[in-house]
Amino acid sequence: MERPNAWKTYNKTEMKKLEAAAKEYKAFIDAGKTERECVTYAAEMLEKAGYIPLEQAIAGKKKLKAGDKVYLNKMGKAVLIFLIGKKPMAEGMNIVGAHIDSPRLDLKQNPLYEDGDFALADTHYYGGIKKYQWVARELALHGVAVKKDGTAVQICIGEKEDDPVVGISDLLIHLSQEQMQKKLGEAITGEDLDIILGGRPLKDAEKEPVKAQLLQILKDSYGIEEEDLISAEIEAVPAGKARDFGLDRSMIIGYGHDDRVCAFAELKAMLSLTGTPEYTCCGMLVDKEEIGSVGATGMQSNYLENAVAEILDLQGVYSELNLRRTLRNSRMLSCDVSAGFDPLYASAFEKKNAAWLGRGVCFNKFTGSRGKGGSNDANAEFMAKLRRIMDDNKVCWQTAELGRVDLGGGGTIAYICALYGMEVIDSGVAVLSMHAPMEIISKADLYESIKAYKAFMLDA
Ligand code: MN
Ligand code: MN
Repeated sequence: MERPNAWKTYNKTEMKKLEAAAKEYKAFIDAGKTERECVTYAAEMLEKAGYIPLEQAIAGKKKLKAGDKVYLNKMGKAVLIFLIGKKPMAEGMNIVGAHIDSPRLDLKQNPLYEDGDFALADTHYYGGIKKYQWVARELALHGVAVKKDGTAVQICIGEKEDDPVVGISDLLIHLSQEQMQKKLGEAITGEDLDIILGGRPLKDAEKEPVKAQLLQILKDSYGIEEEDLISAEIEAVPAGKARDFGLDRSMIIGYGHDDRVCAFAELKAMLSLTGTPEYTCCGMLVDKEEIGSVGATGMQSNYLENAVAEILDLQGVYSELNLRRTLRNSRMLSCDVSAGFDPLYASAFEKKNAAWLGRGVCFNKFTGSRGKGGSNDANAEFMAKLRRIMDDNKVCWQTAELGRVDLGGGGTIAYICALYGMEVIDSGVAVLSMHAPMEIISKADLYESIKAYKAFMLDA
């Protein structure tokens, strides 16, 4: 049983729409290289589309009714979007959730030092990375430094054409006899991932003159002192823009497809909804998935529950029971990327059950590792309903699991939302080189995901 290739189904009009979506998506991942930047982008789009902050609705005691649009900005790192439907919320919501954090190198809280006439920054990697992939390439610094008085200074260095970039050096091949004997996973260690920030000493500085020069630049350009880095979140990410990949331009190479491709598809689908849907539609852009969905902005935090309670309250129907029913009766697509079949590493996959680039949105009935360990295993009944929704709406879709059995594994936010007793399934876009600094997706899969998420949200 083979699934059709989405590219074969497109006419001229659809190809135009696909290219437009791809263009918009590239702009999104160029603008959103951190979870905070993605939230800023999303909030702007949402406000333009008439969404109001939930806090504002609460403060103004706004009576929420069908058709109303609210969103929650959780600490600038996660967003929950609600479009109130005609039916009572207790009948459940149609939820689409994705994550906006991606693997990267975070600057440590005391990062700066000088050695070999260089100023360097110590990092602590975030999420699952192959460390050797992050050396000898251009990196950009994105983030925020918060001063003691609460002022937040936005930092973004390395993205504009004439910006400088930074990076981590690698040992020259001529002197690498020892390094080349090491295992791939051990050749570069976490503590080796120090970023070179500068190499010019300040003339009259007595000690650490290169670092002093760097601190001078930070002060002049951003008004921050070394101490301000203690309360900073600065992420080193691959510098440069996403671009078309392949001579046929069928793919996109860029940083953070995991999981911003699903986040974008979700946002795009939500923003394309017109009129009042039957069920309340909820979009979630969450943080911290790559490190286990922990923390106040991760899915394990209870901000979904709290936000739904507030919305029920603003509708005048809050009760503990109504809250529980709303969550339990909900249906959810946990949108996250899938491992795309890679002919160069074919033995890592079982072809019939692998996600193929270009064959549309993937449904992963389960994820996990070994004997489906740690997985949310969606119900056959829910899977059947999705087949119906996708086919009725002419969405190209496929089913997949994460590689060959017993080779590894992974998880998403699905199992956390399933704790409420709602129907949840993993769904997303196939990615090549997942978690590498530059990942690859097919434009067709992006396009089909947008269609899929919209169809799911409108399903009555
Ligand atoms: Mn992911
Ligand atoms: Mn991931």
